[in-house]
Amino acid sequence: MTDYSRWTLEEFKESLDLCLNCGACYARGPIVPHNWRELPPHEWSSPLRKCPSFEHYRFRAYTGVGRLTLAALVFLGRTEINEDLIKVAYTCTSCSVCNEICRTHQPLYAILALREEVVRSGARRPEALDEMEKNMEAFGNIMGAKKAPEILGEIPRKGEDIYFAGCNARFRKPQTARATAAVLKAAGLDLAHLGREERCCGFAAKQGGNRELFEKLARENIKTMKRAGAKRVILSCAHCYQAWKKDYPMVFGDLPFEVVHVAELLAQLMDQGKLKPGRKMKKTVTYHDPCFLGRHGKIYDAPREVLRNIPGIELNEMERYSNWSCCCGSGAKISSSCYPDFGAVVAKERLLEGKAAANTIVTACTTCFQHMSTSVAREKMDLHVYDLPVLMAEAMGVEF
Ligand code: SF4
Ligand code: SF4
Repeated sequence: MTDYSRWTLEEFKESLDLCLNCGACYARGPIVPHNWRELPPHEWSSPLRKCPSFEHYRFRAYTGVGRLTLAALVFLGRTEINEDLIKVAYTCTSCSVCNEICRTHQPLYAILALREEVVRSGARRPEALDEMEKNMEAFGNIMGAKKAPEILGEIPRKGEDIYFAGCNARFRKPQTARATAAVLKAAGLDLAHLGREERCCGFAAKQGGNRELFEKLARENIKTMKRAGAKRVILSCAHCYQAWKKDYPMVFGDLPFEVVHVAELLAQLMDQGKLKPGRKMKKTVTYHDPCFLGRHGKIYDAPREVLRNIPGIELNEMERYSNWSCCCGSGAKISSSCYPDFGAVVAKERLLEGKAAANTIVTACTTCFQHMSTSVAREKMDLHVYDLPVLMAEAMGVEF
């Protein structure tokens, strides 16, 4: 991943110069590759609704190009950081649809660099973000819980395969952690978990522009993981996955262990015949690609392979899927915490899209799982939400 915070002023200027102002990152038609006739439509045509923040606020400032321009103006010293600019900067969900369309100009990286500049300037950021960061620093979790529950009490604290559960599975959705452990143990893995030694991965701090806090948490987690003897780190949250897979190495270089998402691991174990879901599930499901597993992580096939191999599951795609999937509204916990009304609107749209495809929506990220389940309850929708390991555990008939 591009280390945007190391961009020089020259690179910023270049980035702005390269922008064609074509508007494809939020509105007008797709950027069509020259060989479009040879490609299936899904690979070249982008959806009509693209940037979730533009769809809601309807001002050009709330788009990839709008934010790229503002970032460049701030770096060139031509505009000041004020309340309006902060709202524009922090309502971006980091979904990366704009980067997907504008492959060379990387508007999202400019937005993240702008957030780091906001932190450096000492300007007042949304209170909810400050609160979340205080919690990460003081308690090692975004919720502010003084003591973490022992969600996987019976599992060893040291080993080669270590499951890093993340804040949402530790505090809000422990069923994901328990199901992950039960399924992987059933496949013969000697799984370990850091227990209370696990601290927040720091991803929300990085996305919020607080590089210092992110690096502090990353350093602590890497140290603990090495001490516990990890050879492979397994993640179920797409945000934690992004942190361990791309952001930690971006700062600290190559890590001495492999980093895998549980969806990849489940697909691999199924392929090797080590996981056999025996129960017929009889469900039509649709799959929600988490932004940080899909567009950011490029993992689209593994979770779908898992679903297709569960007997009785029929997979029906949503209108926007795979690299054109839409954010669930969580926005790396930032847009949903700082601007909850906006987060709720994005979630509702996505859930309605899911509902049009199936009665069950499956995702492969504990943060999306948590945000979508809460939104379904708030909207009183008749829709079931699953995290992939939970569905897998049910299909295997293992207790969790
Ligand atoms: S950021 Fe990229 S996609 Fe958006 S207007 Fe500029 S060139 Fe077009
Ligand atoms: S990352 Fe997503 S929300 Fe942010 S500007 Fe790009 S398309 Fe819009």
